This record gives sequence, structure tokens and C-alpha cells, in this order.
Amino acid sequence: MKRETILVVDDTVVNLDILVNLLRDYDVVEAVNGEEALEIVGQEQVDLVLLDIMMPGMDGYTVCRKMKENDQTRGIPIIFITARSDENAIEKAYDCGGVDYVTKPFKPRELLARVKIQLEHQKLIAQLEFLAARDSMTGIYNRRKFFELAKQKFSENPENLYAAMLDIDEFKKINDRYGHPSGDRVIKAVTGAISGIIDEDSVFGRLGGEEFAIICHYDNQEFVVNKLESIRKEVEQLEVMSEKGELIKFTISEGVAKVDGTIRNLDELLQCADEMLYKAKGAGRNKTIFRI
Ligand SMILES: [Mg+2]
Repeated sequence: MKRETILVVDDTVVNLDILVNLLRDYDVVEAVNGEEALEIVGQEQVDLVLLDIMMPGMDGYTVCRKMKENDQTRGIPIIFITARSDENAIEKAYDCGGVDYVTKPFKPRELLARVKIQLEHQKLIAQLEFLAARDSMTGIYNRRKFFELAKQKFSENPENLYAAMLDIDEFKKINDRYGHPSGDRVIKAVTGAISGIIDEDSVFGRLGGEEFAIICHYDNQEFVVNKLESIRKEVEQLEVMSEKGELIKFTISEGVAKVDGTIRNLDELLQCADEMLYKAKGAGRNKTIFRI
């Protein structure tokens, strides 16, 4: 199992040595001042920070506040470890975003227990975030997460951005003839095939039922055409066994649109792709239609 990484920040080297020794079951990274600590959390994957308050230059409160202001580091839990034990200091530590507070000299096993519980919280949060973003049947992004990521892509850079709407042809007939569990197998087979073909930075989600969407950036339009055609052909080759042992064949239709001067937001882009999907259905299905 991967070991968690803990950043310990203290201007006193002796304190760092004690913590490093205590936390030997974890990967420990050390920083001797606030600036260095911020640099490390900006560059490395850190799961937890143990943070001293009184340091020359940037103090621990400021480090904490800056980490909480930054989207990239906001989620990292911070435990303050400090010689200050007055109530004002403790209140301020929680106010600026710390999750726990330990006074020096600390009790080693108590500190380890607190570290462990915060790391377990982090793991649970990550699991919940994963589940909340996924379609439970297929494991790909659900509708909510798809729109969140697609909107982000659009606002970051709409240039050379494509949207594809995909739909399993005559899916209702598959369900009616073979039953819903078999229909589910078809949906899983289709999403598996698409996941295997699209690139990692494309956003692929299930919008509902048998309807899917992809958002992707490419410089070369021909490449996009080829990619979507290869998805369509791959699905055409698939076979799924029904619950009663019958072989099910199926196809998909695809509508694709690229951002141009007439498209102002993600909804309009998806709308255009959807219109092309509608045309693909009208043209006999098992087709990819590009908006020109
Ligand atoms: Mg200090």
C-alpha cells in the first residue's frame, strides 16, 4: 500500500528530528519555514501538514491561510503543533482552517493517533468524492460531474473544443427483447469500448439512460473524425451475451460539433452536437455526423 506523505514544518531542527523519528511509518517531508512549506505543497502530493505557529518570517497562521485560499491545497488537513497554549492562539488556529491543535511538549502516541484519524478522514472524503462523481453502473462520470468538468474545459479554452453526443441505437428494443439486465450489459460494453479509445484528458460521461457525451480538445479535425469513427466501428463489432445466452449486436449514433463564432457556451455546443445526433438517427443510425 502507498504510504501517506506528511509535511512537517518547524523552524527548530531538533523538533523536526523528533517528528521525523516519530512518523517513521510515513513518508515525511521537512520544511524549516513557511515559504518553503508553501513551495512543497504546491509541488508535491502531501496528505497532511504538521505546522508550527511561531516561525521567523511567515508564521504558521499565514501558511495555513494561504493554503486554504488555494484550490490546489485547500483540501490538505493541517494540524498545528505549537508551544503556545493560550486560548487565543488555539481559537485563531481553528479560525484560519486548522483541523487540530497539539501543544508542545506533545505526547507521542497521542500525536500519532491524531495524525492517523486525520489521514483516515482524508481517505473517506476522497472515496465520497469519487462516488459522487461517478455513474454507479458504468464507473464513468455522471451527468453532474460531466457538466462541471465540461464547463471548466469550455471556460479555460474554447478553441479547438469538440463535443460529441452518443446514443445507443434502438436501445428500447434491446431492453424489450432481452430484458433490462441485458440492456445494462450493453451499456457497460459500450462505455468500456469508448473508455478504451478516448484520450485521458477527454471528459466522458453518461448523461442518462443510453445517452453519453464526450468533450475533447484537438488541433486536428480529421483526428477527431477518425477517433469518433473508430468508436462507432468498435461498438459495431461488439457482442454481448443476453441473460438467456443469446448474442446481442448493437450500434451507436454520434453527433459532433466544434466551437465556432456562433457558439457562446457549453450548452449551445452540446445543443449543436445533439442536433447532429438527431440527423444521424434520421439518416439510418450507426452513423457519425459532423456539424460543418
Ligand atoms: Mg517555532
